[in-house]
Amino acid sequence: MDYDADNIFAKILRGEIPCDKVYEDAHALAFRDINPQTPVHVLVIPKGAYVSMDDFSANATDSEISGFFRAVGHVARQLGVVGDGYRFLSNIGGDGHQEVLHFHVHIFAGKDLGRMIKPIDK
Ligand code: AMP
Repeated sequence: MDYDADNIFAKILRGEIPCDKVYEDAHALAFRDINPQTPVHVLVIPKGAYVSMDDFSANATDSEISGFFRAVGHVARQLGVVGDGYRFLSNIGGDGHQEVLHFHVHIFAGKDLGRMIKPIDK
């Protein structure tokens, strides 16, 4: 799938629309989700143009990958959620219900998050 430079996170990266920024470095930008699902819900996105975790893991440089995942860990520590715990998650494609086609991870925290996913029907 080709990267669409008009996706909403690309516009945030270019400063064309605002975000509630919590962290930024050379490799990543983190901001609060506009529709939070948990008391703490932050998105971390790489600065490069990658559609998804699949695209990122296949095509990003080692520097981009290490810089991005170090930033995710830094954001969690900065948010103060490591002690109680948190979840990070990335939706990919149709079955994953990915809505925004710029790779991002969600950081969910601030409450007991329960089971990881709804178990499949047996
Ligand atoms: P996903 O299904 O993983 O693609 O989730 C996309 C997330 O982006 C959703 O949780 C949305 O609430 C969030 N979102 C969409 N637009 C914005 C925005 N302008 N600022 C912050 N979060 C957004």
